[in-house]
Amino acid sequence: MKAVLFEAFNQRPKLVNLPDPTPEPHGVVLKVEATGVCRSDWHGWVGHDTDIALPHVPGHELAGVVKAVGKDVTRWKTGDRVTVPFVGGCGACPECHAGHQQVCHHQFQPGFTHWGSFAEYVSLHQADLNLVALPESVGFATAASLGCRFVTSFRAVVDQGKVVAGQWVAVHGCGGVGLSAIMIANALGANVVAIDIAEDKLALAKSLGAAVTLNARSVASVPEAVMEVTGGGAHVSLDALGHPETCCNSILSLRRRGKHVQVGLMLGDHSTPAVPMSRIIAHELEILGSHGMQAHRYDVMMSMILSGKLKPELLVGQEISLEESIDALMTMDRFPGTGTTVVTRF
Ligand SMILES: [Zn+2]
Ligand SMILES: [Zn+2]
Repeated sequence: MKAVLFEAFNQRPKLVNLPDPTPEPHGVVLKVEATGVCRSDWHGWVGHDTDIALPHVPGHELAGVVKAVGKDVTRWKTGDRVTVPFVGGCGACPECHAGHQQVCHHQFQPGFTHWGSFAEYVSLHQADLNLVALPESVGFATAASLGCRFVTSFRAVVDQGKVVAGQWVAVHGCGGVGLSAIMIANALGANVVAIDIAEDKLALAKSLGAAVTLNARSVASVPEAVMEVTGGGAHVSLDALGHPETCCNSILSLRRRGKHVQVGLMLGDHSTPAVPMSRIIAHELEILGSHGMQAHRYDVMMSMILSGKLKPELLVGQEISLEESIDALMTMDRFPGTGTTVVTRF
């Protein structure tokens, strides 16, 4: 199969030919029809992710068709259209038994713990537990855009933030994660304040349902500006970028007893940001993480997609080839363009 492979961190990946994978007894091999390019891939490529063993094939936002099925798999057959969350469960640890596969003790993460989907084929583990059926009306590029940023935002807003209609939700950073969160919070009936430094991203945020947009460069203090437009602070605030400054701004944007959800990754030099703990205590703030979403929670999200309340296809930016994914991966830290870049030509 054709695949994008890197043999050293920070060195240009190559398009190479590799042997086709065979399925694990509990797994499947998928013919990849679409795979998103994500900032997490960039983090992995520069060496921020200790799960990655070299040489490595990146790619974790994928959708495709089942090509081969392991002998112990009961729920899937060749030809099935499927996708997966970026964190798969092992099926045997206490968290998996409790239904929290997104924090499994022995996670299967294609493109991190194992070779990923910047390839014609990818091997997926524990298929009965981790695969999600794709309705015919959801295209592969849209489905690929769900597995990482969209589901993490869905879990952040719905399951962690527990956002309800009428609440103010602040979203710091309007990349793929932030725009997803804005769409989801708006669909729930919340009032969204979107914050970014790029006017084109703020315009997109507005079109996806943000009630108010704030350019962080044109206000003296982001938290004070959020306090003002929300009449006392957000009920729920998300750092959708993953940066010490947006993390701190998000916490300081909250009203009393509000919830901060960290959605953007904090890796490398940013892994231990300073947080205003005195405010967290005095205002009884909650600090939460969001790390993917279990396959069994896709049902709720899919029904909102099929009913038209959520339109993840609006977040798909450009579609590119596998060869073009190399340059796209290497420049992901510079936040180019708006929307998700998806490989759809292999
Ligand atoms: Zn991702
Ligand atoms: Zn597990």
